[in-house]
Amino acid sequence: MMSGDFFFRNKIRVAILGATGCVGQKFVQLLDKHPWFEITALCASERSVGKRYKDAVNWLLQTPLPASIAEMEVLPCSPALDCQLVFSGLDSSVAGSIETEFAQAGYLVVSNSRNHRMDPAVPLVIGEVNADHLNLANAQSHGKGKIVTNPNCSVIGLVLALKPLMDQFGLEAVQVVTMQAISGAGYPGIASLDIFDNVIPYIDGEEDKLETEPLKILGRFQEQAIIPADFKISAQCNRVAVTDGHMACVSVKLKQKASQEALIQAWCQFNGEPQQLQLPSAPFQPIHYFDHPSYPQTRLHRSLDKEMAVSIGRLRPCPLLDYKFVVLSHNTMRGAAGSALLNAELLLKKGWIYWAT
Ligand code: NAP
Repeated sequence: MMSGDFFFRNKIRVAILGATGCVGQKFVQLLDKHPWFEITALCASERSVGKRYKDAVNWLLQTPLPASIAEMEVLPCSPALDCQLVFSGLDSSVAGSIETEFAQAGYLVVSNSRNHRMDPAVPLVIGEVNADHLNLANAQSHGKGKIVTNPNCSVIGLVLALKPLMDQFGLEAVQVVTMQAISGAGYPGIASLDIFDNVIPYIDGEEDKLETEPLKILGRFQEQAIIPADFKISAQCNRVAVTDGHMACVSVKLKQKASQEALIQAWCQFNGEPQQLQLPSAPFQPIHYFDHPSYPQTRLHRSLDKEMAVSIGRLRPCPLLDYKFVVLSHNTMRGAAGSALLNAELLLKKGWIYWAT
């Protein structure tokens, strides 16, 4: 187990797989000057291998590309890297096999991709919700190597909103309709002629993820397995012409009667291990509730609390279920790279990664 002062040792060496993509860039931005981690390898496809990072990447972020990173050579995604931890933002067409190869070679892989999320021995973790599920990784058969995943980008916001309600009042049914940002489809994503002035009521595979992943995350860890949560979710997913920020309109049926004030209090008082351990990437407060009748709004609230907080508003009675409300979260940050980094910080604090000497 880790103990002692984190600031008097060498940093943990990390690689990024898929470093040139939307999520990969966000990893670069977050890991540059991170107090515990330092980037030692950037990897991508054959298209980018051998180029300097600044020539391979189409940098889309508002902060400048860090000078020290810009000159690094992009390497192939093969497990011969000088690092102790691998972040994966790989395209799902290749993530499955590459991540397995790294785990088999003894690397700890922290992945955003969907491929291993529902594997029975792979933890699917949101730091504030189910940090105890990290222990599921002990059931993996890769030896020293492990794979840990974070959920789909819309699932993270939804589950952060549901967790305090489930804990205090129980959940019987959830209905969710999402409005998801274009950056969720990666770069270059959807053609401008398809998405401009338009809403597309279909995202391949997304509704299935929203109806299954929350049940694993909100399930119980028991005897090296997860007993899934036992409520039903119905999801409809739409792509809207917003750059970043996924919004969801949610209705819930609770097991116990509860007042509106009790729900708001449950959200506002909620926190988890990332806050208790004061992890560097943890939002100060994971859930912010707004009383204003037209909040949360994507442009106003997606960047709240290091882009890691979830905004909730418009809580009101639902004529079909018990209550309905709106949830907003940042898809490439809280919904991807930021949550993966939070998982890596948890893994480090919980003794899964050993410090360089
Ligand atoms: P993206 O922008 O399309 O980036 C994909 C990355 O994968 C690029 O670095 C690309 O490298 C690399 N890649 C593609 N084919 C490869 C190959 N054959 N071998 C090695 N590397 C290859 O995608 P993204 O939006 O960042 O998403 C990355 C992953 O995170 C996906 O699995 C996605 O489902 C998941 N995710 C995304 C979001 C989001 O909001 N965007 C949220 C949660 C999860 P090149 O540049 O060299 O082609």
